[in-house]
Amino acid sequence: MAMIGERDVIGEATLAELESTLRGRLVRPADPDYDQARAVWNAAHDLRPALIIRCAGAADVVRAVEFARSEGLQVAVRGGAHSIAGFSTSDGGVVIDLSPMKGIRVDPTARRAVAQPGLTWSEFDHETQAFGLAVTGGLVSSTGIAGFTLGGGIGWLLRKHGLTADNLVSADVVTADGQLVTASEIEHPDLLWALRGGGGNFGVVTSLEYRLHPVGPVVFAGPVFYAAADAAQVLRGWRDLTASMPDELTTLANILVAPPVPFLPEAVHGQMVVGIVGTYAGPVEDGSRAAQPLRALAEPLADLMGPMPYVAIQSLLDPLWTAGAQNYFTGSMLRELSDEAIDTLLAHHAAGRAPARELHLHHGGGAMAHAPAGGSAFAHRDAAYILNVIARSPDRENFDKHADWARATHAAMSPWSTGGYVNFTSEPGQDKVRASYPPDTYARLVEVKDRYDPTNLFQLNQNIRPSGGR
Ligand SMILES: Cc1cc2nc3c(=O)[nH]c(=O)nc-3n(C[C@H](O)[C@H](O)[C@H](O)COP(=O)(O)OP(=O)(O)OC[C@H]3O[C@@H](n4cnc5c(N)ncnc54)[C@H](O)[C@@H]3O)c2cc1C
Repeated sequence: MAMIGERDVIGEATLAELESTLRGRLVRPADPDYDQARAVWNAAHDLRPALIIRCAGAADVVRAVEFARSEGLQVAVRGGAHSIAGFSTSDGGVVIDLSPMKGIRVDPTARRAVAQPGLTWSEFDHETQAFGLAVTGGLVSSTGIAGFTLGGGIGWLLRKHGLTADNLVSADVVTADGQLVTASEIEHPDLLWALRGGGGNFGVVTSLEYRLHPVGPVVFAGPVFYAAADAAQVLRGWRDLTASMPDELTTLANILVAPPVPFLPEAVHGQMVVGIVGTYAGPVEDGSRAAQPLRALAEPLADLMGPMPYVAIQSLLDPLWTAGAQNYFTGSMLRELSDEAIDTLLAHHAAGRAPARELHLHHGGGAMAHAPAGGSAFAHRDAAYILNVIARSPDRENFDKHADWARATHAAMSPWSTGGYVNFTSEPGQDKVRASYPPDTYARLVEVKDRYDPTNLFQLNQNIRPSGGR
């Protein structure tokens, strides 16, 4: 696919004509806000698009898609800019930037929200929590709702209310031919099926309709931290507890390097610790009872579990996950967590050198597993745990080595893996995509891709190649 560099610019007249047809604006390399406009969350992807089209609404998106197609430009679609793999930017291509599109309407009676794709989870939760409602959202509230939903969406309400994608009722999509279609159970049901876990392959989503659930506004939630010396015991204990946890309780075990935060003793700063974090989607007293065993897996270093606003647990981790660092994530769905698997994770964490390295074990099951397999593109619903291996560094120094460490850790866990998860994948590549879907799901995704994007205009994603093979 053709690209344009800064010196090989599209004619001024063409750009002026494009701009005159937009409600939003163009940002070009010479503009004073170009560096700000091109930045994405993961600084590992420092790319220079030829053009950023900041869309004000669906009409601008139609125009942007037509323009990119007619000029033969590589297309990057951006919502919250949190793609780990850097899919929402491009060297020399066009970024269709949806971040100005932040409209949302909540219908508290129908328990529905219709939201635009530029919203972050912080903004979405702010609006829905005004009515005591929520849908499964990101663990870091600066993440965008759109990319997150299209890949599946794993968050604190997963086990009670399912993946975010399970709650996607309908979506408006600008397809590769510039048509705006609505995907729902009635219209284009194949497209809705694919959007629920198939990523950004099928067009630009300009509106998402979600089913909401009563949550909070206060929930029982938070983290408990344990020392490295107790790590194996804590992880085995947590694993055993997950076998009988109520669906209301969604938890995460995290093997991490303790950050220099005031609630952890100074002696453990920079050392391995284990955090068990959870949220109970139900009455606070029930949550307190259900979470009690998580707080007694050993002698805690710090126990911050308690009643808190739902929006507080949704943003609790934000200070540790600011934009501008180098990040590498790689994930897999695990069928089980044996003692050997736990020992493997602990040994690999100890061998790593990234200043921030985290091994997240999300507990699956619950509503994720109750939804019918094959009912949406999201696969591996029977996984008991979802692993995310994270290497994070403030600068480029040794970053490639840290990424190698993450890949090696991921590979060491392959005996327990049932497949991948596109939202936690740093690298593009057919092997990653194939690992995320069983063959029959993948074949169905190709059929939908053939129908809505046969020339693969949207290929900066965990790409489903159309059968034409581009
Ligand atoms: C700090 C951090 C925390 C995270 N936490 C979680 C978590 O708790 N659970 C989880 O499941 N994932 C998590 N993720 C992964 C996250 O879900 C993905 O990175 C997701 O793609 C981010 O969406 P975005 O809109 O912010 O990203 P963007 O970079 O804007 O978009 C990513 C890709 O999604 C597609 N896309 C985005 N918007 C649209 C649209 N409107 N139409 C069509 N395609 C679109 C495009 O292919 C785009 O390249 C996290 C990522 C980060 C960086």
